Amino acid sequence: MTQRNVVPRLFGTNGVRGVVNTKAMDCRFASRLGMAIGTFMNGTILIGSDARTSGEMLKAACSSGMMATGCDVLDCGVLPTPALQYSVKMDKEIAGGVVITASHNPPEFNGIKCVDRDGTEMARKNEEDIETIFHGKAFNVTTWDKIGSSTPHARAIPDYEKAIISLIDADSVRAEGLKVALDCSNGAGARVTPHILERLGVDYVTLNADLNGAFPGHNSEPTPDNARDLTELVRQGDFDLGIIHDGDADRTIFVDDKGNYMHGDRSLAIAAYYACKENSGGLVVTTVGSSKCVEDAVKMAGGRIMFTRVGSPVVARAMIKNNAIFGGEENGGLIFPRLQYCRDGAMAVARLIEIVAKHGEMSKIQAMIPAYSQYKTKTSCPNEKKEAVMKRLAENAREERIDATDGIKILFDDGWVLVRPSGTEPIIRIFSEAKSSDKAKDTAGRFRDIIAQAVEE
Ligand code: MG
Repeated sequence: MTQRNVVPRLFGTNGVRGVVNTKAMDCRFASRLGMAIGTFMNGTILIGSDARTSGEMLKAACSSGMMATGCDVLDCGVLPTPALQYSVKMDKEIAGGVVITASHNPPEFNGIKCVDRDGTEMARKNEEDIETIFHGKAFNVTTWDKIGSSTPHARAIPDYEKAIISLIDADSVRAEGLKVALDCSNGAGARVTPHILERLGVDYVTLNADLNGAFPGHNSEPTPDNARDLTELVRQGDFDLGIIHDGDADRTIFVDDKGNYMHGDRSLAIAAYYACKENSGGLVVTTVGSSKCVEDAVKMAGGRIMFTRVGSPVVARAMIKNNAIFGGEENGGLIFPRLQYCRDGAMAVARLIEIVAKHGEMSKIQAMIPAYSQYKTKTSCPNEKKEAVMKRLAENAREERIDATDGIKILFDDGWVLVRPSGTEPIIRIFSEAKSSDKAKDTAGRFRDIIAQAVEE
């Protein structure tokens, strides 16, 4: 692992996260980070939050830090992360964006996430610049007469909704008279997705559609367990689709018309399939952690696939660079380049509904895409031994096909195993996929034993 800068890292894969009103994420921290962000962005900044109880406090503190450096702040209120990203992208006068969100974490957490000028999640290099300013206290604090202003900004949501609808064949959707069940997880998706359904003429029933940072319905990660009420509702009623967002609605997980929870790989594969079909081919980008069903779907539709390291900013940037027609992660984060290069929960809803309207029941569409079983496990490994263990694994696996894009992925004829050292904890993660659940478990176990032995040596 290379250490590019010597200052301690603040930003994780999805912004800075911490438990609210501890040193890691209190109003003092937020205002200091705001000063660092303002010093870096040096212009007008859009800010918004998800529905957490601490959202308003941290937004005010972060805004105050940014204003101290002379930045004007436009306050978008509570909104989905991709709605803010779209606004940043569309307005060339905007220097960047900030979202106060901890996405799917438990309610006591919150986070501060930065958005680059082009609307994408902030590149690591820019985060490092902010970290350097923060730790060096190199804040560009201005004089009394140049303090920034804060103004409410109500346009972000309607502009975003309009842009989504413009990319959908709304007449075809309306003609089908579809009915869906929507679980907003008490999060920011409640601000947008019901409007999208109304504008598409889709009848809907909601669960947890009030903004409530205590998450009384369930925690805001759309796991099978948290989606239990939704799957039950879909099973008992006459619905064409179930929909569940994470807390900041950049991700969406679907339930088919039979009430089957669809893992994120499945919706990714289906959206990829139709993107390639409609485009007569094209490139789809996803991470090495995605199921082979995505590759299968892309190939079935005459497209090409490219695998990247794990992380949605990596996928988004590879999509831009290689002119991809579609991309995303296996966790329900789908990226639609015609709208913007970021995970987009409401766009995913509109697009999957359009697919059902045009191509029939989701359970039948699902049946067309090959299915695999996955298994995840881990083993402990001291940080200083990780490199040697990974090297040894690569040498020993030379018989098979190896992809070293992120960790080591060993490809077999009917599946794969992905071995990745954790960036923060003294563990190595093992993730396998095969045609049967027994095979996936066996393979993961076999590699766990090999790695555990290599750690001992
Ligand atoms: Mg999220």
